[in-house]
Amino acid sequence: MLFGEQEIQEPVTPQAFLWSSEIVSQDDTWSAMESVLKSRRFPHCSLIRGSQGTGALAVALSLAQNLLCRESEIACGHCSGCYKAGLLIHPDLHFSFPVFGAGEICLDHYTAFRSAAQENPWMSVQNWLSITDSENKQANITAREARSIIERLYLKPFEADRNVMIVWLAEFLGKESNILLKLLEEPPGHSYIILITEDPAAILPTVQSRTQQFRLKPLQDADVANALVRKLGIKYDDALSAALSSEGNLPLALELAGNESGGFLKFIQQMLQAAYKKDPAEMWTWMEQVATVNRDNQRRLFAYFLMILSLSLRMGNDAYTKEQLQHPVLQYADRLAQRLGVDKILQINALVNECSYGIMRNANIRILLHDFLISLAGIIR
Ligand SMILES: [Zn+2]
Repeated sequence: MLFGEQEIQEPVTPQAFLWSSEIVSQDDTWSAMESVLKSRRFPHCSLIRGSQGTGALAVALSLAQNLLCRESEIACGHCSGCYKAGLLIHPDLHFSFPVFGAGEICLDHYTAFRSAAQENPWMSVQNWLSITDSENKQANITAREARSIIERLYLKPFEADRNVMIVWLAEFLGKESNILLKLLEEPPGHSYIILITEDPAAILPTVQSRTQQFRLKPLQDADVANALVRKLGIKYDDALSAALSSEGNLPLALELAGNESGGFLKFIQQMLQAAYKKDPAEMWTWMEQVATVNRDNQRRLFAYFLMILSLSLRMGNDAYTKEQLQHPVLQYADRLAQRLGVDKILQINALVNECSYGIMRNANIRILLHDFLISLAGIIR
């Protein structure tokens, strides 16, 4: 039967990836968002506030998927809207994010951004900039990009009945957000703009007042631990210690859990030992080892050290239970706290920050590490 009933059936869309599966620990905020979605009164301009590691991008992607579902207010998971939003290839889902270079627009970087967000919707801006190999350049959301945001939101939607624009890290707009004020005041009826910020203080009050705001909370330790077990397949105890160390920052916990086995702790022990003994041969060996790894790992090593120092500063007020203190990282932080005391830890903290900044600025790594070790020796000896 030519063009019979069977032949004109719509093709079946495969099960979509649901971005809500990436959200961790935000039950209250997420259920508030869901009820606004269900009421069909989701604001045309919203601002998600969440410090680094709370998963704001995953939340925004999930909101976008809900808004683009063709079947219901909450993503059904089997329509073409859900499917394409799950793969970040929906033609009515737009993105804006920090890039480097004055004349840049994000449309030229969509492919890289899509794959980065798919691979790690919890990425930090440093992760993103290291992917685009622009760590040492000043990232921003440019004036040209701000005008492109307006253009894309005024477009007639291609497939859905609406456009959704996610602006990841709106603080990078700086003064260019003035360009968006009129859009935020009166967005086209078919458009939704979701701003994300890790630094609300950097968002102009005139922008804040034009948006409905949602706040994400730092993650609960147990939720972070469960996410680590799920993502890395490690034991719950190991996961919990990384979770405790990260203070509710899942990507940091992922790095910690991954790096503990990678020997970061041992590296830091060796460094402190070499500085304490002020033994030139030991110092030289350590410096050479660090100088030869790539810059991203150097940055992570120093971030890891900063984390241990911050744990040391929290020791002493019964911040941890006996069981938690069994973990090697917490044990080590405790020993440092006892040996060095608050003043010295704060001095080392400032020194490590300075060194990390040098690494980000691409300073000569050997000179940087040498000066760092000498100053460190001066503090701890
Ligand atoms: Zn759907």
